[in-house]
Amino acid sequence: MSFRPRKQFGQHWLKSEKALNEIVKAAKISKSDRILEIGPGTGNLTRYLLPLAESVVAVEIDRDLCQNLAKSLGKTENFLLLQGDILTLNLEAQLENFSKFQNPNKVVANIPYNITGPILEKLLGKIAQPATKPYDLIVLLVQKEVAERLYAQPSTKAFGALSVKVQYLADCELIYSVPAKDFYPPPKVDSAVVRLHPQIRYLAENPKFLDSLVKLGFAEKRKMLRNNLKSVVERDRLTEILEQLEINPQVRAEDLSVPQWVELSNRLAVSATVET
Ligand code: SAH
Repeated sequence: MSFRPRKQFGQHWLKSEKALNEIVKAAKISKSDRILEIGPGTGNLTRYLLPLAESVVAVEIDRDLCQNLAKSLGKTENFLLLQGDILTLNLEAQLENFSKFQNPNKVVANIPYNITGPILEKLLGKIAQPATKPYDLIVLLVQKEVAERLYAQPSTKAFGALSVKVQYLADCELIYSVPAKDFYPPPKVDSAVVRLHPQIRYLAENPKFLDSLVKLGFAEKRKMLRNNLKSVVERDRLTEILEQLEINPQVRAEDLSVPQWVELSNRLAVSATVET
């Protein structure tokens, strides 16, 4: 039986064996790994994961696909299929009676591109509230433009608020580029496999403040940072702090690296308390 891919669920089946192998290789799966897969679809990737891992729990929103998967993979003892929306499903509660699948330590998935941002937030948390039990490793196939933003370096075109938010929470690497023709049906955009290693290298003293600072800083990308931040800090004060940090006071938000954002946030949060 074949399934006509549904656009509203971002369904594009990955058919390239090479790309599937690259995803699996990037996840460095061992027999003790418990994997969470988002959107197994027809099970293309799932079939590669099952023989390597201790267990795979897959969350799929599409009822028809779930029925089909249950038929084809339902008897595999290290496979558990949950029908639902990854964004709203309470995974921990769902896994309560399935000890073999509890606390998955890696995520491996070809995700629906239309909800990439919310999925990243679900997996990593946000600056103000990082995931309490971070995954060891997350390997995702995402839209190429998004991949570029995830591993972008400061002062490059792709470096934006998403880069800072995700790089604060995880180390990000590009693994492999996947052309649109490797899917059925081909999406309008090219794709790339990225690997995220959740880890906070520079912890902000006031993460909530950093979160809003980043949002404000990037609000108008073409403006200088000091203009975007003028509601939080006086221009002269910011110039002084930037000079102390050996940062050109005329920088734009995209020129600051993650540690510089953290440092700036720490200094501003302190001076904000001192002044009030
Ligand atoms: N992994 C498969 C399919 C990828 S397409 C492959 O590589 O071929 C993306 C999959 O995510 C589809 O099966 C789609 O139905 C599913 N999906 C879309 N939105 C979802 C959501 N909110 N929660 C869980 N799965 C979702």
